[in-house]
Amino acid sequence: MTQRPPRNLPTRLVQAGRKPGAYEGAVNPPIQRASTILAQDPIDLYKPGVNTYGIHGMAVHDVLKEALCDIEGAAACTLVPSGLAACTLALFALTSPNEHVLVTDSVYGPTRRFCDRELAARGIHVEYFAPTIGADFHTLLRANTSLVVLETPGSLTFEMQDVGLIAGLAKAAGARVMLDNTWSAGLYFPPFGHGVDVSIQALTKYQAGHSDVLAGAVLTADERLGKKLSETAKNWGFALAPEDAYLVLRGLRSLPVRLAQHDANGRKVGAFLAQRDGIRRVRHPALPGDPGHALWKRDFTGAAGVFAFELDDDRADSADRVLSALTLFGLGFSWGGYESLAIPCDPQLDRTLPALTDCGPLIRLSIGLEDADDLIADLDQALATL
Ligand SMILES: *Cc1c(COP(=O)(O)O)cnc(C)c1O
Repeated sequence: MTQRPPRNLPTRLVQAGRKPGAYEGAVNPPIQRASTILAQDPIDLYKPGVNTYGIHGMAVHDVLKEALCDIEGAAACTLVPSGLAACTLALFALTSPNEHVLVTDSVYGPTRRFCDRELAARGIHVEYFAPTIGADFHTLLRANTSLVVLETPGSLTFEMQDVGLIAGLAKAAGARVMLDNTWSAGLYFPPFGHGVDVSIQALTKYQAGHSDVLAGAVLTADERLGKKLSETAKNWGFALAPEDAYLVLRGLRSLPVRLAQHDANGRKVGAFLAQRDGIRRVRHPALPGDPGHALWKRDFTGAAGVFAFELDDDRADSADRVLSALTLFGLGFSWGGYESLAIPCDPQLDRTLPALTDCGPLIRLSIGLEDADDLIADLDQALATL
């Protein structure tokens, strides 16, 4: 047999799990609504490896997992009903009472809430560290440190972390590393090559891409760890509805082209804001002036269209005035959809360490697939109201 040439990721995502012969010629796998899955023989009901219940997933879940593993180079993937559930599943599965967990201070807010309430209540000691810490990180590691939680760039504030450096130090001390890799959608940062044990994807964002579904995934390159994660999900009874899995898979087919356009639009809008009067700072690691730019350039092959900027106007209502004047940006949480969104960040900026004292009123943008010049014109007129 002649060997096929290696195919690139966009091709593989278009091809993934396509078996028209098995589905009466249909291009896509079917949505199978199932709780009960009937067995042919009573002995099959208890046979390992035989699917007997819809909670374990159907054809569409299998294809989605295969494609998600391909993106990040993972060996195992567990699907869950939201991005937050992916974070909490991994945090729960990888920690035990009396252990110490180090979490980046720039972590996604609801992940912080889970650490402070649920992990702490289980007798796990949670400590936050500065996202830009570097080699000093080793001073924080303790004999009972079991897990390090990273997110790069950080939620809302977009500081870059040296994942390889921190993961190397953590590993040497016997701790595992979990990375919320949602910003890169897995496409622009390969987590396992940088020493990460578990990667989190909020599939709600770019993978789904249309602001109409909640889903999450926990990925690992270690099959044994993958088994532990999927067993914990099973113990908790997590299931992702087949329609939701289908919508995420549909999004994956066009993910590389959408993400490239979000990236181009985001950089164009970011560059505009960086040179405009009235802006103190743009927090976007792919822009050359950003303090995290060198790390981004070393480790990433692209950028999301999500970033933040600080107004050079410390009046309490300045961010709200700009946001109220926008006409193309929806005011709403989440990101990664085709439509642009904006939020004021200050009401939810929750930090343990005093690193953000000089931050101006902060606005986060999720740049959508509109024309970038239209978005720039909208921001320009909204900023002119200050
Ligand atoms: C949105 C988000 C999540 C949670 O995803 P949901 O599907 O909304 O629960 C987790 N991590 C990051 C970085 C996110 O941006």
